[in-house]
Amino acid sequence: MGMPAFPEAAREALADPQLRANLRAATGTIRAKRARVVAERGDWEALREAGRAIKDEVLGSLDTYLLQLEEQVTAAGGVVHWARDAAEANRIVVELVRAAGADEVVKVKSMATQEIELNEALADAGIAAVETDLAELIVQLGHDRPSHILVPAIHRNRAQIRELFRREMAGTDDLTDDPVALAAAARAHLRRKFLSARVAVSGANFAVAENGALVVVESEGNGRMCLTLPEVLISVVGIEKVVPTSRDLEVMLQLLPRSSTGERMNPYTSIWRGATPGDGPGEFHLVLLDNGRTRALADDIGRDALRCIRCSACLNVCPVYERTGGHAYGSVYPGPIGAILTPQLRGPDPVADSLPYASSLCGACYEVCPVKIDIPRALVHLRAEVHHRPAERLAMRAAAWIFTSPRRFALARRLTRLGTRLAGLPGPWRRWTTTRDLPQPHESFRDWWERRN
Ligand code: SF4
Repeated sequence: MGMPAFPEAAREALADPQLRANLRAATGTIRAKRARVVAERGDWEALREAGRAIKDEVLGSLDTYLLQLEEQVTAAGGVVHWARDAAEANRIVVELVRAAGADEVVKVKSMATQEIELNEALADAGIAAVETDLAELIVQLGHDRPSHILVPAIHRNRAQIRELFRREMAGTDDLTDDPVALAAAARAHLRRKFLSARVAVSGANFAVAENGALVVVESEGNGRMCLTLPEVLISVVGIEKVVPTSRDLEVMLQLLPRSSTGERMNPYTSIWRGATPGDGPGEFHLVLLDNGRTRALADDIGRDALRCIRCSACLNVCPVYERTGGHAYGSVYPGPIGAILTPQLRGPDPVADSLPYASSLCGACYEVCPVKIDIPRALVHLRAEVHHRPAERLAMRAAAWIFTSPRRFALARRLTRLGTRLAGLPGPWRRWTTTRDLPQPHESFRDWWERRN
């Protein structure tokens, strides 16, 4: 069954007081942490401006940087694959896993693989995908959907997670809801998987064009286990994740942790290039994913969404997100960024078309965005597109009907002349013409010809 459009889904979410309480507590905590560490930086605005400039430079010459990235990754022993859409990306990954002779993969938390529904595609091919990020594991064990970019299980509290672990993990009958005990249970469960998996799948936060380095930032270290232990590593990366040089990471690695987890620095930053014999995976594949990104790039205003570094700061300050949670957005990208990214990546559909309206346009998202995406401006722009789409289509169809028949065209001209005269007479339409001059139709060539002969 398809997802309902935002207003309907939001109504359902708003009726759940436990969900609202969980969200209020979690977003409030992250918001306060972020505000504290951002206030420490006197040059925060300059950093934001630098982040914006780096991403704009990339988007302005994306073709050049992507080819440079491909060349560098290949030179470092990796293999680059290009995927136009989700189906192509999934097919590539499934074939690579099969070629490695594996029926299970361990996964680093990755939005791109959620976007293409890779786990489902792997399952269809008889391959089990094990999420190793704690929050993603909670979502996976609960047969649930993520509701936040950074904290996918934000809609669940500790007691709910304990119940889930007791149900899904062996030997956890005495488990308490102490966070340390919950983390220990997850660690024991995952360690077995790390040691047995032959293939890992990841995304990447950044891909450096000048040297082919891939970067993953995380908090738990589970990602690093996946990036180093298995024999084969496959990274599915959106084409907008490229940055020109390693020096650009200086800016990005300051902006991202402060904006996302409210930390000065994230605990684990893994950087690797290609494949090095005897050091980590012996085989590395980079799948570069388009899936609607070039369509977004073609839109002068909408393309700003491709600057996003998925920090989720805009979710945590959004009054709409705080009340509805992420599921109501019907997309892996919830909150303000989801409201502008999803309609562009997916193209028109009832859920995507409802998302630009999931905002009060208060501007809080723009204020916190580390790469200065003017989300309210993009929302207004997309609203205009969504709103005009049916009317525009109807007008074009009517124009085609009129222009394809000389008789209908002549009739339309006569009606236009009549309409112009009527607009000058007293009536409700005068409200429009009191402040505007209605253009007077000129005599057409056809009329002139008839008059002359
Ligand atoms: S739009 Fe900005 S604030 Fe929101 S997730 Fe992306 S980078 Fe972060």
